[in-house]
Amino acid sequence: DTASCEHKTIHYYQEGEDEEHLERLAIIDELKQALVDDDGQLFMTYQPKLNIKTNCIDKVESLIRWQRKDGQWVSPELFIDLAEQSGVIVELTSWVVKTVVSQVAAWQQQGITMQAAINVSAQDIAYPSFYSHLAKQLEKHAVNGRLITIELTERDMIENEEQGIKALENLKTLGVKISLDDYGVGQTSLGRLKSLPIDELKLDKCFILQLDQSRQDQYIVQSTVTLGHQLGFSVVAEGVENKDSLDILVQNKCDYAQGYYLSRPLKSEQFLQWLEVYNEAS
Ligand code: C2E
Ligand code: MG
Ligand code: MG
Ligand code: MG
Repeated sequence: DTASCEHKTIHYYQEGEDEEHLERLAIIDELKQALVDDDGQLFMTYQPKLNIKTNCIDKVESLIRWQRKDGQWVSPELFIDLAEQSGVIVELTSWVVKTVVSQVAAWQQQGITMQAAINVSAQDIAYPSFYSHLAKQLEKHAVNGRLITIELTERDMIENEEQGIKALENLKTLGVKISLDDYGVGQTSLGRLKSLPIDELKLDKCFILQLDQSRQDQYIVQSTVTLGHQLGFSVVAEGVENKDSLDILVQNKCDYAQGYYLSRPLKSEQFLQWLEVYNEAS
């Protein structure tokens, strides 16, 4: 049922609008402070992506978490949105890049070669400092750019299209890969798809969550994998919650599967424990 694929929007209320506004400002201030303090309130989690062809885990997606000092969790959908609106996203992404690149380096030192994806917004790549910061972190930690994937949504691609494409092409000179996140719910025409400098299509989870139940979703997966491969992209499915859905992805030659059926996003230490168990069992 593709009706569930509409994008979530933040609702603005007429009544109590001022309070809501103040609350949002307070969250932005707290977020800024959390980034400065860097005292563990903000941390990265890592969700494995299964390489369907080899059955190995060779990639993860990094996903940020925020637990405030009072113990309260703030959902990334809320604070990423606020960070984008306020411009704090640039500092936040810079922190994420530093954290994830150093994590990839740490894994490498433990003999684990793991590619990691970082979620970024249109604003991030618009700044030349994004490129230089990423380049600097890769060099500092001796991490090959090929180990980093940048995930951008379709919406982020559309804003400032020409400039955005140039920025992505420039990033690719570092060896990094580009992934089109939440594919299928945005506005990318097929004409644009073929001209974007991307390496990976990441099918939105709304097509995957009930894949085992929905014939329509199965057709969408089948045709997207075919199209993606013919255009030279790797195809990833996110939101894989059960074995039947994974089997369908395998049958359809999807390249990677990610979702709760394999694992929830985990802190780095837990991810390593999970990986050990996974590698022993397979
Ligand atoms: P996304 O990049 O599309 O990430 C996928 C979301 O789906 C994540 O939610 C993940 O936890 C969730 N997910 C994974 N597997 C399953 C599953 O099997 N079932 C279901 N129902 N959900 C699953 P999360 O972590 O809450 O992140 C939400 C969004 O926030 C992300 O969507 C991304 O757009 C943004 N985000 C998260 N971390 C970062 C970050 O470090 N930087 C930026 N700029 N955005 C981030
Ligand atoms: Mg993503
Ligand atoms: Mg996504
Ligand atoms: Mg999303």
